[in-house]
Amino acid sequence: METITIIREAETLSRWSQIHQRAAKSVAVVPTMGYLHEGHLSLIRAARAQCDAVIVTDFVNPTQFGPNEDYAAYPRDEAMDIALCQAAGADVVFIPDVHTLYPNGQDAAWVDVKDLGDHLCGASRPGHFRGVATVVMKLLCISRADFAFFGQKDYQQLRVVQHMVHDFGLPCQIIGCPIVREPDGLAMSSRNVRLSQEERPSAIALSQGLAAAHQAFLNGERDARQLTDTAASLILPKPHAQIEYIAVADPETLEIFHHQIPNRAIMLLAVRVGNVRLIDNMLLE
Ligand code: AMP
Repeated sequence: METITIIREAETLSRWSQIHQRAAKSVAVVPTMGYLHEGHLSLIRAARAQCDAVIVTDFVNPTQFGPNEDYAAYPRDEAMDIALCQAAGADVVFIPDVHTLYPNGQDAAWVDVKDLGDHLCGASRPGHFRGVATVVMKLLCISRADFAFFGQKDYQQLRVVQHMVHDFGLPCQIIGCPIVREPDGLAMSSRNVRLSQEERPSAIALSQGLAAAHQAFLNGERDARQLTDTAASLILPKPHAQIEYIAVADPETLEIFHHQIPNRAIMLLAVRVGNVRLIDNMLLE
């Protein structure tokens, strides 16, 4: 196995990509905030299978956290991330510091995707998707990637990024990859390590609620309210669990359905379990 290259400077990463592209090699980027798990590794493997050169970015982006959110408490382990990237077949791990990605300060330039980022997670996290879109724009520009791999676990993020790339005509194709779950159904997340033993059974209720709603959908239920109530009925009784939102939306526009839903929709939810905010979603089709 070749030793992975660690890059910390933006210019070095751009040059690395250019060298590969001049040799007619396709370059993939997998943006992450580190503390890697199987969900991230599935993206790296998908990139490896599809592209000639694979870059993983490892950066906890401050601008997507609100003032009272868990930026400081977000788990970090650079050495583990590097080892996992290497094992998953990445060529480069890009680990910039804040100044490298925000050379003119964190308020200097923004990308704001209107509407798509304002509701669902955006309602309780104002500015979150502006921070996401901004850092992804920077990472796509610096890495010059031809393909970028994102998880459907962060479905609203995926749609915001796709919208941004389309709107700016960026020469990068966005690939959405399926959600990877623990054996008990919990969607993998770097934040799961912060769940206590007592909180963990409550966290599992998110995927159980989605599965119950999906089953109701398959049985013919098409009323948005009935479907969200079905999911909520499994989550509400759990100790430590506080529902932030449960919604059924159009998978493309994320417009929320309040009454009758079509034969293809997506249920999305955010639930606080103790101090940990968890999100999950499931296509209804
Ligand atoms: P994060 O490090 O949480 O910002 O996530 C980096 C990328 O990994 C994003 O595109 C996420 O959607 C993706 N990701 C995180 N968790 C999962 C998961 N359980 N399954 C698939 N992709 C995931």
